[in-house]
Amino acid sequence: MPEGPSIVILKEEARRLVGRRILAVEGNTTTIDKARLVGQRIVAVRSWGKHFLIELPTFSVRIHLLMFGSYRIDGRKEAPPRLRLVFRDGEFNVYTCSVRFIEGPLDAAYDWRGDEMSDAWDAAAARRKLRAMPDALVCDALLDQDVFAGVGNIIKNEVLFRIRVHPLSTIGSLPARKLAQLVDEARRYSFDFLEWKKAFVLRKHWLAHAKRTCPRCRIPFVKAHLGVRRRRSFFCERCQRLYGG
Ligand SMILES: [Zn+2]
Repeated sequence: MPEGPSIVILKEEARRLVGRRILAVEGNTTTIDKARLVGQRIVAVRSWGKHFLIELPTFSVRIHLLMFGSYRIDGRKEAPPRLRLVFRDGEFNVYTCSVRFIEGPLDAAYDWRGDEMSDAWDAAAARRKLRAMPDALVCDALLDQDVFAGVGNIIKNEVLFRIRVHPLSTIGSLPARKLAQLVDEARRYSFDFLEWKKAFVLRKHWLAHAKRTCPRCRIPFVKAHLGVRRRRSFFCERCQRLYGG
């Protein structure tokens, strides 16, 4: 699943669409009135967590790439697009994704302080939200988009390995210092992810995600589908401490 940093890359690539006017719209999406897009000029492109946002004068298009979504700018894949925006000098295509309209200003629809890639990111607010869910497992809390918009499964596994916390620890049992580390590292790792992904070296830097052996202990990682979300976790039972539980 594309995580927050990948959507930031999409946003950066899509900046060249700003100012272009949509001449025609195609695609198999049935969740929006495509005709409404014709004639609109793109004001800005933004992102919030895993949402890519195309801002138009009075409303916006929200694209969520879900598990297997992809895109092409000024190019296309063989597959039928969910949405295709055609401009005089190019096009924008998205595939296997969710498309919605958001009415009114985006600043009214989104709290940018909750987007871990945003300049407005507010670590204290994230800690407050976490303290309000003491029984949550850390593996679920990290994937909670209301706390960490943009964090996905790779970031979750790598952050817990970095801070040496077992995924089944409960939020309420983490010492304050660990809770702060969790919040800070989620953001720090996301920016590392961004740099590595841009350089095509992301996988090479994975220490835990999809790995078999703990690089610190040289013993096998445990692989399990944990938490209410049942997402894959890779962790070391020796160096990642279980708090609570
Ligand atoms: Zn270990």
